[in-house]
Amino acid sequence: MAEGIERVKCLIIGSGPAGYTAAVYAARANLEPVLYTGKEPGGQLMITTDVENYPGYPEGIMGPQMMEDFRKQAERFGTDVRYEMITKVDFTGPVHKAWSETGHEIQADSIIISTGASAKWLGLESEKKLTNKGVSACAVCDGFFFRGQEVAVVGGGDTAAEEALYLSKLCPTVHLLVRRDELRASKIMQDRVNKTENIKVHWNTEAQEILGENEVEGVRVIQNKTKETSIIPVKGFFVAIGHKPNTDIFKDWITMDSTGYIQTNGKSTKTNITGVFASGDAQDNVYRQAVTAAGTGCMAALDAERYLTEKGII
Ligand code: NDP
Repeated sequence: MAEGIERVKCLIIGSGPAGYTAAVYAARANLEPVLYTGKEPGGQLMITTDVENYPGYPEGIMGPQMMEDFRKQAERFGTDVRYEMITKVDFTGPVHKAWSETGHEIQADSIIISTGASAKWLGLESEKKLTNKGVSACAVCDGFFFRGQEVAVVGGGDTAAEEALYLSKLCPTVHLLVRRDELRASKIMQDRVNKTENIKVHWNTEAQEILGENEVEGVRVIQNKTKETSIIPVKGFFVAIGHKPNTDIFKDWITMDSTGYIQTNGKSTKTNITGVFASGDAQDNVYRQAVTAAGTGCMAALDAERYLTEKGII
């Protein structure tokens, strides 16, 4: 083997709940996992405040604290955590190859992909400034903090419909801001939105600026046909214009759907490439919860362990 090339039994790419859970299981099964965190160690939970729906934390926990606990648990059993990105892979041979951002080559008998997804944002300055101060991309995570208050949701797809419906059970009015004169969401979700009296749909409407200094106080919107602007007073502003799975580096090898979510085989985490497994949001556009990501991370480690056992590697 050439100098500088490292051989590992199990390489885990990504450090959200899926990656760290895979690491806990893989380390305890003696797979001696090496985990590359990626550029956002801890993943999407690092931009959440209180997590109140993860079982086992009756008082709730801050997202970043929870991810630190996940990391410590993975390290306790010997996971080698590296704060770097994997920027390139090659899955042509029986041994899979991956390169870190510094050009270090790793040859892995098994790989667990847990690179997650990133919420898409509108790109407004005020959105960045007020993230976690009333601006959120996850109603299930943060909606509870706005119960009894007016909120806005941006988007017209299934995610926006789902977020609006979720919030409609907590908030007196949900203002759904849709940039066209129709929803992209599935028919059934459109029907649900239309039947929900406290969801007020603002057609042909775009957010121009989210108002407030240390908390959201409202949103200035523009009616894109008449160009009229107005202010809707809201305390919560939810961006629901879709997620993008972080799977670009795998696209030459791994079977994905048209939006880049990795397809797994049946009830397993197996991908189309033998020895490569996928877990968490990189392969799930439906549930997208920390607890479901952790569950599939566990599955991926068990699948990898079985694969390595069958191959006689462990
Ligand atoms: P989609 O891409 O389907 O929809 C995104 C929506 O956001 C569109 O209405 C789009 O408008 C709007 N949008 C995009 N950019 C902007 C912007 N800059 N300003 C304002 N609006 C914007 O994403 P989803 O996350 O909703 O859905 C992704 C996939 O996941 C879909 O296949 C969906 O069916 C699936 N899904 C399924 C669920 C379920 O089955 N329960 C739940 C959630 C998602 P426009 O229409 O004008 O392009």
